[in-house]
Formats: sequence, C-alpha cells, structure tokens
Amino acid sequence: MDQVHGLKQILGANLLTSREQKIPFQTDASYFQGQEPLAVALPENVKQVREVIKFCQEHSIPVVVRGGGTALTGSSIPFKDFIVLSMAKFDKIIEVKPEDRYAIVEPGVKLDALNQYLANFGHFYPPDPASSMAASVGGSISTNAGGLRASLYGTTRNWVLGLEVVLPNGEIVKVGGKVLKRTAGYDLTSMFVGAEGTLGVVTKAILKIWPLPESKGRILAYYDTIDKVGKAISKLKGKGITPLIAEFLDRISMDSLSKTRGLKFPDEVDYMLIVDLSSTRESIDRELSDAAEVLKEFGPVSIKITTDPTEMDRIYEARKGAYSSLLSERESNSERVVIGDIVVPASELSAALKESEEKVKEHHLKVALFGHISDGNIHANIYADLDNREHMERIDRFQIDFGKIAIKHGGSVSAEHGIGIEKKELLEMELEETGSQYTMEIMKTIRKAFDPNGIMNRGKMFD
Ligand SMILES: Cc1cc2nc3c(=O)[nH]c(=O)nc-3n(C[C@H](O)[C@H](O)[C@H](O)COP(=O)(O)OP(=O)(O)OC[C@H]3O[C@@H](n4cnc5c(N)ncnc54)[C@H](O)[C@@H]3O)c2cc1C
Repeated sequence: MDQVHGLKQILGANLLTSREQKIPFQTDASYFQGQEPLAVALPENVKQVREVIKFCQEHSIPVVVRGGGTALTGSSIPFKDFIVLSMAKFDKIIEVKPEDRYAIVEPGVKLDALNQYLANFGHFYPPDPASSMAASVGGSISTNAGGLRASLYGTTRNWVLGLEVVLPNGEIVKVGGKVLKRTAGYDLTSMFVGAEGTLGVVTKAILKIWPLPESKGRILAYYDTIDKVGKAISKLKGKGITPLIAEFLDRISMDSLSKTRGLKFPDEVDYMLIVDLSSTRESIDRELSDAAEVLKEFGPVSIKITTDPTEMDRIYEARKGAYSSLLSERESNSERVVIGDIVVPASELSAALKESEEKVKEHHLKVALFGHISDGNIHANIYADLDNREHMERIDRFQIDFGKIAIKHGGSVSAEHGIGIEKKELLEMELEETGSQYTMEIMKTIRKAFDPNGIMNRGKMFD
C-alpha cells in the first residue's frame, strides 16, 4: 500500500488501482493470462515516466510497458505486483517534415492514425502490421513489427531514425536523430528496436517517412498446391521483382473469411496468392503483366490482375483481418487461435511450407496457414482449446517442430512477433542449433548493464 501511495503522489488520478480498472491490462492479444498488477500508471509526460521508473527501481517493483496491448507472445502482460506503465497518453504527432523525410511522434500514437495524418503530406510510414488499427508506435518499435509492406520496405527497424528513452535507472537518453544517415558510434537506436521493453521506455520517436506510391496494382492467383505458391514467389524474387506486398492464404483461411466477411473465393482452389506491385502510372500495367507471366509458369488454377482501388482495399482489409476472422469463429471462451511465426529465405519457402503442412498432420491439429510470403514469413494459426491440456501440449510440440523447420532452412523462430513469454525456449533452441550460444551471454550482459535489478519486463524474452 505504501508503494501505491508513493506512486499516487507522482501520478494522482493517473494511477489506476481498482480491480475493474486493472483487469483490461491483464491480458494482451496472446493466449497467456497475466496476473493482477499492483497498479496501472498512465503518465502524461517524460518527467512522470522518469519518476515512476525511479520509484520502481528504488522499491524493486517490476514494470511492464504497454502500448496497444496487441502483442501475440505475452510480452505486454503483467505478473503479480507488476506496475503496468501504459503509454496511452503519449498520443501526439509532434512534427512532420516531408522534405527531410521524418516525423517526430509520441509512442502511444496508433499506426493507422499516424498514416491517416501523414497522407495529408502525401507521405506514409511503411511498417504495417495487420494490427495497425490498435498497435502503437512504441509497441511496434519494441517488437520490430513487420507486416504486409515489409516485403518492399523492410521491418520497423529500417524506419526508426532516433529515439528518446527513459532508461531503467531514470536517465533520459536521446539516440540517433533526424538525419537519414549517421555513423557516430554504436547504433544504440537499433538496440532498442525489438527490445520488448526490457531496456527502457520509449517516450519519443523520430521515424523515417516516405512518399506515397504513385500507382499500385494487384495480381490474384489461385493454386492447387502449396509447393507451387512457394516456388512462384521464389522465382518472382529471383527475377528481381520485389512486390509491395505478397501474401498467401490457405483454404481454411479463405473459408473463414467467407463465413465472417462474406467474401467469395473459387471452390476448387486451395491457396490464394496476393501480389501487389507499386510503380509509376506509366509502368504499372507492364510490370503487373510481367509479374503475372512469372506466376503463370507455376500453373495457377486462375489468375487475374486488378487496379481497381475498391477491390484492392477489400482484399487488403480481409487479409489484415484474417487472424481476427479465425478468432471470431470461437464457440466457447476457452477456444483461442495460437499463432506460430517463422521465417525462412524465399528460396526455401516451398520446402518449408510443405514440411509445415506435414507437421500439422503429424500433430493432428487444425491449422490455418497464411503469411507474408515474400519475406518467407509463415504464420501457423492453430485452433486451440486452453482447457484441454493434452491438446495444448500437442500445440507446444508442434511449435517446437515448426521452429525447427525455420532453423533447418536457415531462418528464425520469430519473424516479427518477438519472444515474449511464448518463445523463450525457442530462442534458446535457435541459438543452440546455430552454434550462437554466446549471443545469449552478450544479450544478458547488455540487459544487466541497462537494468542490473531486472525490473523491466521481468520474465520475458529470457530469464
Ligand atoms: C490481429 C493481429 C495481427 C497482427 N499482425 C501483425 C503483423 O502483421 N506483423 C507484426 O509484426 N505483428 C503483428 N501483430 C503483433 C502485434 O500487433 C505487433 O507486435 C504490434 O506492433 C505491437 O504493438 P502494441 O502497441 O500493441 O504493443 P504492446 O502489445 O503494447 O507491447 C509489445 C511489446 O512492446 C513493449 N512496449 C510497448 N510500448 C513500449 C514503449 N513505449 N517503450 C518500450 N517498450 C514498449 C511492451 O512492453 C511489449 O514488450 C498482430 C497482432 C494482432 C492481434
């Protein structure tokens, strides 16, 4: 109680302490159940963040920072007696400078809101996780979010120029800056990207922004085997064509979208491939037709090109909503969709996709496969019943096997969702199997240097 009193003195009404107020912060978008935190702090400025962190440091109170709470690995849930530090009140876009290609924003700004604002300047911020409506700038930086447009633009890491961070000892540091190039010592900006709130609290970000593409078009191709989908994308990239987005969906995912969104797909097809290209108005038609020729080499059941914005938006939103569609089919409270997230080089996709399907069968699971296929990123969306222990154990075994597929093909056990609670074992396995165990020692040393008492997101990423 003394601790709550101390925090109240810093935050006043911006400290939530009642059970009802705390419950929404106990879970994120993963299937993990957190525990009741001591309190939820909603600081309004960097000074308050600093005071809260200093107070928690003095009293050894663990802190979990929270953006939109859409993490899929349990990285934003609290355990017992944690303080949740919500960045919801850091919601301002401070400056936009298109001529210098940067925007300065607070971490609580939602990605879609940022892009709506940037559109006024004819610019956009490319990282585009399917959760962009609810995901925050701070959370997406801290998970190095990827998403659909990572195919062409890369993940969040490529778009963060500088940060203001409150460190676990209360120091406020500014790393990076407004310029597009800089070689001045270690790249600390990059270190905070993907750190899952273990190294400090991001309180401001300088983001690189880019002009909106002049013209876009889409190829929709349907195939009867997953092998053909993998080979088609691999060939496309081999030819030097980098799609703006390239996504695939399997039949279970298509059926779910039909059921929940009324979309219609051809009956006789098992896989859908969406390939978007961006270019100039003069070139887009030719580039689409060149890319379609490559995809045709792998015998699609059907293929079509469209540049109709309404049709394109409809499919884009449907793909972004694919996970939510699967989730909305739940019939009881204990049902969830556990999501696997691996990545392999594009040339290994065909083999990795086939092996993933085999593992699904071997473990007798119902799994919808989709993903950001241009990056070699495969998501296995596993229908799960949390109340069925044997079923959950099978899912754990599948996740290990799924991770092994990634490692075997030179990829990673986590493409874009991070480690959180879910992938601690998989991270160790990846480092072990690639002979990189010493990397774990380096990571532990870094974490200890920033946070000797281990108050920041204790129990996440690694112990
Ligand atoms: C339907 C759905 C679709 C998704 N699709 C994608 C996708 O396509 N691509 C993808 O990459 N991810 C995807 N995700 C995962 C998730 O949405 C992203 O990782 C997202 O970027 C997290 O943002 P958030 O604001 O919700 O973060 P949170 O869940 O709030 O936090 C995530 C992590 O960041 C830390 N954190 C948050 N804010 C800060 C801060 N200011 N300073 C320091 N640490 C902080 C937290 O402690 C936690 O460790 C999806 C999730 C859902 C539910």
